[in-house]
Amino acid sequence: MEAFNITPPQWTESAIHGFDFCCPKCGASTMEAQAVWINRRSPVYTENSRRKWQEFYHCHCNTSWWAWSSDRPPSKYARSEQDDDMSDLDGDLGDLDLDL
Ligand SMILES: [Zn+2]
Repeated sequence: MEAFNITPPQWTESAIHGFDFCCPKCGASTMEAQAVWINRRSPVYTENSRRKWQEFYHCHCNTSWWAWSSDRPPSKYARSEQDDDMSDLDGDLGDLDLDL
């Protein structure tokens, strides 16, 4: 896992800014990225005194892109109406709780 390496992987050098937190070229989500690197060593302070940092993703279409951690959609895992697999998982977990 190279996500938290100190030195950036070579593929981050050509990364372009993805404004929608998905691959700017093919639109793939971060879940489909082949590699991730998070630049936690140089966080930036936002207007609200909250830290954000660059998250680099290497897409399977061979595009490298990055986005601010603060731009990550907050409800990605909380709500998953379009993702049937995740909905099933939520259901299974709910059943587990009931059985216990
Ligand atoms: Zn892509």
